[in-house]
Amino acid sequence: MNACLFCKISAKKIPAKIIYEDSEAVAFEDINPQAPVHVLIIPKKHISTTLDITEEDNPLIGHLFRIAGKIAEERGVARRGFRLVMNTNPESGQSVYHIHLHLLGGRQMHWPPG
Ligand code: 5GP
Ligand code: ZN
Repeated sequence: MNACLFCKISAKKIPAKIIYEDSEAVAFEDINPQAPVHVLIIPKKHISTTLDITEEDNPLIGHLFRIAGKIAEERGVARRGFRLVMNTNPESGQSVYHIHLHLLGGRQMHWPPG
């Protein structure tokens, strides 16, 4: 029994506003958006943190970034600019231990991030 929240979302055992899906990945709206566009792009494969990415996952990680770019185009933020974030471990703020690429856009981003 897999207790992982994002594995459950990818398996449709927990509802989410899924906006994109293919055999390898799912993208859905963040439940607590931090920007007008806040989408999470995840692999269907369970990978706990960026530190658990292996060489065989290289194409999968590239795939997540390409999906993010397509969604940014669709949402009209590609040219304006957007931010892609993948938090790792507690001091980054990672709260769900299944890697996810945050796509944030639609407002001015600040640097350095908080
Ligand atoms: P992290 O803090 O791990 O980088 O990001 C986890 C993200 O998942 C947060 O932005 C949080 O709002 C989002 N999140 C947590 N639980 C759920 C959920 O059940 N559904 C959706 N759609 N997003 C969630
Ligand atoms: Zn998982």
